[in-house]
Amino acid sequence: MLIVSDMEKTYPTKSGGFTAVSGMSFHIEEGELFTIVGPSGAGKTTLLRCISGLDDVTAGSVTFNGQQVSGPPREFAVVFQDYARSLMPWITVAKNVELPLMKKGISAAERAQRVASALEEVGLADAMEKKPFQLSGGMQQRVAIARAIAYRPQVLIMDEPFASVDAQTRADLEDLLLRIREETGTTVLFVTHDVDESVYLSNRVAIVSRSPSRIDEIVDIPLPYP
Ligand code: ADP
Ligand code: ADP
Repeated sequence: MLIVSDMEKTYPTKSGGFTAVSGMSFHIEEGELFTIVGPSGAGKTTLLRCISGLDDVTAGSVTFNGQQVSGPPREFAVVFQDYARSLMPWITVAKNVELPLMKKGISAAERAQRVASALEEVGLADAMEKKPFQLSGGMQQRVAIARAIAYRPQVLIMDEPFASVDAQTRADLEDLLLRIREETGTTVLFVTHDVDESVYLSNRVAIVSRSPSRIDEIVDIPLPYP
């Protein structure tokens, strides 16, 4: 349902252009949790920005349910590593989670219910009326995740979402992500530099090496128990 076909992204530079992603092709089935693992600088963020419609591809295409992606699709939610830039620091946590739901035209009663349950899921029920600037980095990232969960996207795109939270919170959030996917059938595209994390979350892992990024191999991880 999500198909990346021979994608290339070249950034304009003074020396004539820098190709961050080249010849990138893969597809993700509905309900799949697909992880891409690769080192810093391999072009993972560039790839996700193009798939999310936040940036244009230089060549190739991204299609979702048969439609070419150009501009951010309403069916997607994106969680970036950089939570500090993604939340509005001066409005409450609850409002941050609610705003995308207002844009989607969801009723006030349902918005309130979704905001409360998403914040509960990430362990922030008590922080609803706080402002993001009053929270720790890990808590802010949990708000960003709650916002994505409450939106109930068809595709959840995550760029190293747990890289800056402490180990215990990270383990909890990984399990939360697995549970949400199980319960809702949300398709997840998850990018990380951490091989252990990629294998824990998924049994289909794509490996990218270095810029210009392309998939070297897609590994089917055998399940440990029959
Ligand atoms: P990551 O943490 O994924 O490695 P980076 O630190 O490489 O991310 O990049 C952070 C932001 O800066 C991104 O929005 C990226 O597009 C932008 N960026 C990275 N490298 C450059 C560059 N050489 N010129 C301009 N923008 C860049
Ligand atoms: P990753 O997320 O895997 O760390 P990025 O996609 O952030 O990789 O960056 C891949 C390469 O593209 C890096 O060399 C980075 O410096 C370069 N890059 C990223 N954004 C820009 C930009 N806006 N302009 C020029 N180069 C960029």
